[in-house]
Amino acid sequence: MRVLPVAGVMPRRVATLSVHTSPLDQPGTGDAGGMNVYVVEVAKRLAQAGVEVEIFTRTTSSDLPPVVEMAPGVTVRHVTAGPFEGLAKEDLPAQLCAFTTGVLRAEATRDPGHYDLVHSHYWLSGQVGWLAAERWGIPLVHSMHTMAKVKNATLAEGDIPEPAARIIGETQVVDAADRLVANTAEEAEQLVDLYGANPGRVDVVSPGVDLDVFVPGRRSAARVELGIADTDDVILFVGRIQPLKAPDVLLAAVAKLVDGDLARRQRTMVAVVGGPSGSGTAEPELLQKMAVELGISDLVRFIPALPQPELVRWYQAADVTVVPSYSESFGLVAVESQACGTPVVAASVGGLRTAVSAGESGLLVKGHDPHDYAAALHRLITDHDLRRRLGDGAVEHAGRFGWSATAARLLGVYANAMTGSPAAAALRARG
Ligand code: UDP
Repeated sequence: MRVLPVAGVMPRRVATLSVHTSPLDQPGTGDAGGMNVYVVEVAKRLAQAGVEVEIFTRTTSSDLPPVVEMAPGVTVRHVTAGPFEGLAKEDLPAQLCAFTTGVLRAEATRDPGHYDLVHSHYWLSGQVGWLAAERWGIPLVHSMHTMAKVKNATLAEGDIPEPAARIIGETQVVDAADRLVANTAEEAEQLVDLYGANPGRVDVVSPGVDLDVFVPGRRSAARVELGIADTDDVILFVGRIQPLKAPDVLLAAVAKLVDGDLARRQRTMVAVVGGPSGSGTAEPELLQKMAVELGISDLVRFIPALPQPELVRWYQAADVTVVPSYSESFGLVAVESQACGTPVVAASVGGLRTAVSAGESGLLVKGHDPHDYAAALHRLITDHDLRRRLGDGAVEHAGRFGWSATAARLLGVYANAMTGSPAAAALRARG
């Protein structure tokens, strides 16, 4: 399961598939999140390394031009598949045929052998990539990002399980892909154990963080900019507001943290940055209602999704970022916060166990009992030495996850796919 790059083999042009969410969307709301950031950051760095990247995504507005130059060497191609607006992610499987047709038609207008490799993201794209790669006689590299079987095993209360059709679709993609990219060793094992992937075809490549954007800064300077008192204890949540991310666990924990302690209550501020997502579109309102019921609505500030350069100030201003998710294939927010020098209190699930170094860069909490999160927050907020030590450890830990390293390792995966896959023979024959 290690990436062993094949020297000298590099695709000239990659077709990247991102059916359900566009790299041009603002992450942190709707269906846009870590995967969007991943696709964009990797594409930019692959292009800098000399690999052209064309990203296919579904058209979601009549305002969108068919082709957008996103960065030098990176093009976004909009494919019409179903109505532009009002189509939920759950309805997309019915549009995969239309999407695939659009991708094949786009390729048919180019010179033969236009793409050397397909990299699909999320199972919906994997279904398209399966056919496209086979049709073009080139390798398919697939990244799952999230897996239905993993998600269903740790659902938030009342959350809707992923349907069997997704699991069937994911299994087909696992079988079809020449190489599978897992975010962590744990995800690689899940691919093998839960989906029957061939271990020899799974590569572990850590996602990253933009270490030029997410930098440690002066907490007081960030607070002046945001209008937050220097003496406040600032607890931050960043991400899509949906049950899976457990923002309710955070609010319940804060209510316990300040319960019966007026001085602490007066010092505590909770910032929740992000927008509604998926079927839980009413989630932000529910969360606001919950804050009122818990008697902490005056402590909580809800902020709509922000572009990453603006997020930096929030990470820098915070004393702690909380990521209490029920499942997380990696957890970019945790790494971004650490890169800004702010330790993390996170659920001990999935990729967060890699994204956070327990006891070194943050605290991992088992389960989702608000008492446990309140205890971890109390420890971090009251023990200044611990917070300073974890803050230093956070910067060091995050420093291991630059996007350039992700892109370099992906090039190794691509090289292996191009030399070791059944499609490789066709590719070589084509010259
Ligand atoms: N994000 C953002 N603005 C926001 C909230 C989130 O740009 O207001 C970005 C955040 O910086 C991170 C991504 O969205 O890069 C979320 O990724 P993560 O892996 O934490 O969660 P996912 O959305 O993939 O479940």
